[in-house]
Amino acid sequence: MSDLRSPQKDAYGLILEAIDTGMYKPGDRLVESELADRFGVSRTPIREALQRLETQSLLTRDGRSLIVASLDHNQMAELYVVRGELEGLAARLASRQATPEEVRVLQDMLEADHALIGDPEALSRANRRFHKQIHLASHNRYLVQQLDLVHRSMALLASTSIAAEGRSEDTLAEHAAIVDAIAAGDGDRADQALRDHISKRSRRGSGLTPRRLRRRNSMVSCRGAAMRAVIGLVPEERARQHFPERLVERDGRQRVIERKARCP
Ligand SMILES: [Zn+2]
Repeated sequence: MSDLRSPQKDAYGLILEAIDTGMYKPGDRLVESELADRFGVSRTPIREALQRLETQSLLTRDGRSLIVASLDHNQMAELYVVRGELEGLAARLASRQATPEEVRVLQDMLEADHALIGDPEALSRANRRFHKQIHLASHNRYLVQQLDLVHRSMALLASTSIAAEGRSEDTLAEHAAIVDAIAAGDGDRADQALRDHISKRSRRGSGLTPRRLRRRNSMVSCRGAAMRAVIGLVPEERARQHFPERLVERDGRQRVIERKARCP
């Protein structure tokens, strides 16, 4: 069992890392034989890794080819909403659960990250390490798992988040506010500081003004309700109350409201 699993995990990890670091970007085609050559792994574990990545929606089909998925504006906004909630919770828990060593690690990271200003890729990696450290300091394994999933999808935004690191001094100041609150054991403040940080990052990534972003986010939650209605979680009639416009078929699987909806 372990013989079969470890090469599979390696191939999976290698491809994931390649997407994460931008070697493969959204829309790029992934070919089994090329990946096998590039990573020096046989084709069977590559095939299994590709299947797993497809199941996780990191890869998608384009005809018979597998390509790196891209997130549209709505998916991006939805992802940031979930990320803000979960990261805020992690910061809240960390402010209660973090050991003094864990707090010190966070403080050391803040110090070290200042030296990286001007190197967007290094800062982006440091940013991931910083957030991961907060997740671990929450001492909640289920939350850590959920955040791993969210961050895996964030890899599909790799190019935009690096671009978003343009204002790295602001980012580091926000990180410092989060660490201060965690060190002080102030859960409310830590939660709020982290949410603010994520919402600022999502604005930087999207290039939208706060007002437009708020409007778009409320549209997104309306759309979410409509889609859930159609697949059966919410009565369709309720969705139609909020969305008098017609439901539009997309992908043959999901239906979405295409026209502007009257959101509550
Ligand atoms: Zn950050």
